[in-house]
Amino acid sequence: MQNNPIEISLAEAHTLTITQPITWDLTELFPSLIDPKVNQAIAEATELADAFEKTYRGKITGLSADGLLQCLRDVEAFETKFSDIALFSSLSFSADRTKLQTQALNDRVDKLSANMGKQLAFYSLELGSLVKSNPQIIKAKALSNYRHVLERIRRRVEHQLSEVEEQLIIEKDQFGVNAWEELQSKWLNTRLFDVTVLGEKKTLSYGEANGLLPHRERATRESANRAIYGLLGKDGEVFSSALRSICNDWVTVSKRRKYASPMESSLIANDTEGDIIGNLLKTIEEGAATYRRYLKLKAKLMSLPTLGNHDIVAPLPESPELKFTFQQAQDLATQAYSRFDPQYALSVKELFQKHHIDATPRFGKRNGAFCAGYYNGKSAYILQSFNGSLTDVYTLAHELGHATHDWYASRSQTLLNMNVPSSVAETASIFGELLLTDQLLNEAKTNVERKALLCMVLDEAGMTTFQVTARVWFEQALYASIEQGEFLDYKTICTHWTKARDHIYGDAVTWFPEMEAEWTMKPHYYMANYRFYNYPYVYAQMFVYALYERYLEEGKAFVPKLVRALSAGGSVSPNEIGKIVGLNVSAPDFWNGGLKVFERLIVDLEKVI
Ligand SMILES: [Zn+2]
Repeated sequence: MQNNPIEISLAEAHTLTITQPITWDLTELFPSLIDPKVNQAIAEATELADAFEKTYRGKITGLSADGLLQCLRDVEAFETKFSDIALFSSLSFSADRTKLQTQALNDRVDKLSANMGKQLAFYSLELGSLVKSNPQIIKAKALSNYRHVLERIRRRVEHQLSEVEEQLIIEKDQFGVNAWEELQSKWLNTRLFDVTVLGEKKTLSYGEANGLLPHRERATRESANRAIYGLLGKDGEVFSSALRSICNDWVTVSKRRKYASPMESSLIANDTEGDIIGNLLKTIEEGAATYRRYLKLKAKLMSLPTLGNHDIVAPLPESPELKFTFQQAQDLATQAYSRFDPQYALSVKELFQKHHIDATPRFGKRNGAFCAGYYNGKSAYILQSFNGSLTDVYTLAHELGHATHDWYASRSQTLLNMNVPSSVAETASIFGELLLTDQLLNEAKTNVERKALLCMVLDEAGMTTFQVTARVWFEQALYASIEQGEFLDYKTICTHWTKARDHIYGDAVTWFPEMEAEWTMKPHYYMANYRFYNYPYVYAQMFVYALYERYLEEGKAFVPKLVRALSAGGSVSPNEIGKIVGLNVSAPDFWNGGLKVFERLIVDLEKVI
């Protein structure tokens, strides 16, 4: 019984409380915030930056392959040296933002980092020119470890403007197109929303109202949705001015940088190709019927004729509210990873043993969750606010996946190859979530538990895969609209939004009229020069699902392949990573493999209802 957390959770959870605060131990990095080693590390990093500048400024464009090899190694030596103090200061600050000492160190290191960035800006400019004028150098044997890094630079520099033009864009954007993002977040943070919570009228901040969207009571969910999107819609013309300007600005910039489409810059940043993403989006379009099958099933489980938009991610009315202690979460995650392979679980076990996890919520601590790689320690640190919910257990399993990825990559790669594009960066983390799902399903004792669990997983996967795809279509429609000379006023943008949305949800969901304004609250849309941020999430989810399907087919033989893929870090392209595990991402029907896993989860759900 003690080894079976999900069983404990139902009956005894309410008597279990988190007793020991789970905080991380950063002494492996530095003994304390005021230790002389902190000053020493800052001094050493500064010296290395100075030395690097002295050796290389004005000389990189003329380097031979061997010279460039030395230069890249020197960059890595400097960055490796600086990474410990940068990590220590940011982790200390994340753990306690109110402490004067952590603020002071964080501020000091931030400024140092910004200054070094300016001091060493010549490096990436000169390296770009070298690779552009002498592309043959990329193939030099001496540079084989850095081949992919250099290939990515080459793809990027094709679209770079002159140094002065680039500087002008940065300077003008700072108070120009970038200001829209500030306006949107200011709007959200300064408005109050009237929401009826369990029958009681309340006036809430955006964060509070937003937190009620998946509330257990349907009327509360409805009230929160209508309050938020109703108020956003009232200022719809303001938001459309912002989005219209950002998109038109991007069209102009894209043309000047000679991008073939508004999406190309994002394809380069994500180290992928238009055809692959085209196939992905088409597969999801075709698979939307599968998602609708689930949504209709969920309506039945909630005793509703059709789901309302406020029910899409709502918990099932009868679902038990599972509670876990951190120890239970730790055991569950460790068991899930170990079941896959005991060796694979080593990094997970080590992270707990070394106290590299800060989990207890407290005042002054950063919100959300992250995993930060610790390159010199061949490890990582995880921060989360663990409140005992099932979602928190999933967050832990997810972040432990990132730590596992770091564990393998840092043992095989030099620092420049640790930069992994987001489509691949989520491989081990989403894989870890699937391992946890299997572990939990395996341990669940009742169909009520299985149902709640499967719905939660399908809700999440449905949002990441299908809803996010609708957002990609929406963005594509905006640019097509501009291309055709259409004026993007509020109602036109809303029409693009609802059209993309309905293409996914069809007749499976009914929407409040206020939901036409849903696009107005997504902060990413207001981030200038950061277009098409969304499809990498769909890519990652479907890629890992396909990977998991492969694992289920191959069993233990799959383990070393996954290890090799994670060990590759960013040294090869996402396509090559796919090949390591026997997947051909470029094949038009590739993404169907990912959809199959989604479908299998629905079949599992159908079996338990
Ligand atoms: Zn992640």
